[in-house]
Amino acid sequence: MPSDHNHDFVILGGGVAGVTFALEASRRGRRVVLLESEDQVGGLARTLRFGDFRFDIGGHRFHSRWPEITQWVLEVLDGDAAEVPRRSRIRLDGRYVDYPLRFPNALAAFNPWQATRILASYLWAASPRLRRRPDLSFEDWIVRRFGRSLYDIYFKPYTEKVWGFPCAELSADWAAQRIRLPSLRAAVVGSLLRRSPAPSTLLSQFLYPSLGIGVLPESIAEKARQTGRATIRPGCRATRVEPDGASGGWRVTFHGADGEAAVTGARLVSTIPLEVLLGLLPLPQAQAGTLAAGLPYRSLACVFLAVDGARVSKDSWTYFPDRDLVFGRTHEPGNWSPRMVPEGKTSLCVEIFCSQGDEVWRRSDPDVIEPVLADLDRLRFLPRARVREAWVKRVSHAYPVYRVGYAEHIARAQSALSRWPTLHLLGRTGTFRYLNLDAVIREGLDLAGSLCQGP
Ligand SMILES: Cc1cc2nc3c(=O)[nH]c(=O)nc-3n(C[C@H](O)[C@H](O)[C@H](O)COP(=O)(O)OP(=O)(O)OC[C@H]3O[C@@H](n4cnc5c(N)ncnc54)[C@H](O)[C@@H]3O)c2cc1C
Repeated sequence: MPSDHNHDFVILGGGVAGVTFALEASRRGRRVVLLESEDQVGGLARTLRFGDFRFDIGGHRFHSRWPEITQWVLEVLDGDAAEVPRRSRIRLDGRYVDYPLRFPNALAAFNPWQATRILASYLWAASPRLRRRPDLSFEDWIVRRFGRSLYDIYFKPYTEKVWGFPCAELSADWAAQRIRLPSLRAAVVGSLLRRSPAPSTLLSQFLYPSLGIGVLPESIAEKARQTGRATIRPGCRATRVEPDGASGGWRVTFHGADGEAAVTGARLVSTIPLEVLLGLLPLPQAQAGTLAAGLPYRSLACVFLAVDGARVSKDSWTYFPDRDLVFGRTHEPGNWSPRMVPEGKTSLCVEIFCSQGDEVWRRSDPDVIEPVLADLDRLRFLPRARVREAWVKRVSHAYPVYRVGYAEHIARAQSALSRWPTLHLLGRTGTFRYLNLDAVIREGLDLAGSLCQGP
């Protein structure tokens, strides 16, 4: 079995976390080797090609509250990023309304009966008596801040569709990290004063490379290669990870196009799913299995459609919480960048939330595609006759599942891994945290900075 030795770092996984670390460590003079199981780098943020059509997995916008991270991204992309307006809508009771809801005009999204119920239940929820208990679940968190009616009508259906289990079992942490709604108080005051909606708040901007978000990880990987110190190896799946007792370093066995081989390095940076890493390390099988069972990920089946004619909608994303629809969200790549589709055509990415091994996951591709086309046609969102071709891509480990109690499972896994001080977890998938691209990049740069101090 051929071996490639003496790297400073072996990196598992070539998503944005892995390639960012590879670039920063190699820029700081370290020798790194990165193993990625897919044939291209990018992970969740890769852009796939089907003929002349390009699709992200679920549509990835770049935005950041850290100006230095935005600057870093613009430099890596050599300026190839346009500012794109965001316009998202959700289908509620058969009508499409702005998503997320923006107050004070939000109440107009509901019929008068619903709006009255929402206000009444908000006033009840605002009572300080209800705030005394801690928020354990997503349901607790939302109901105590927005009232039960808005929870039932607006938050619960889509959230349960994404996760596939009741919101009472979803951790409050997820709401605290994700929900950015202004208070209902503003809505009430706004409607009493009959203030007109503030249209400027309805649109926000994001950055997007002209040929898809995958250009970002590919450019990062290319810049790492150009340092001459980074070896990036797509098509190489890590199959065994062993600490080297004598040196304190690591030996990683992988499977690639030429069969089995191994690499060694002083430190290991893992960005692959935590449950996968636990299975590759020399841990007792029962222990690895128990730890992994506490860290499940939600998956996605993306249906990519090539569509004749003009655009389907003006939306960046459209959300479909309805229980009788198989899919949860769509996005239209041509609205993000015209170069994602050939001239005179458009396309649609349709996301179905699922779990590895469940009924949707096991269906044949035609059986995944058919109900999607039927539902889009029934809603008059996209007539079936306009669809020319359809492809399916299943994506495992899309979302770390924050069930109530997940933080203790992470802590248990970290404690089991702490016996290896030269093993470092990084990224959204690798650390089991719901991070966006900018946070992943920031943590990749920071970790490389702290591990590459000194000569
Ligand atoms: C549908 C969806 C939409 C999103 N939209 C946005 C958005 O609009 N904006 C935003 O900022 N963020 C968005 N995100 C989040 C963003 O995708 C992540 O923050 C980021 O891509 C995570 O990068 P990562 O490197 O941590 O993980 P990953 O991308 O998961 O990388 C892990 C890599 O490990 C590889 N791997 C797995 N097993 C092995 C093995 N045994 N050997 C070698 N390699 C292996 C995988 O193939 C993968 O490439 C979205 C995520 C999803 C799922």
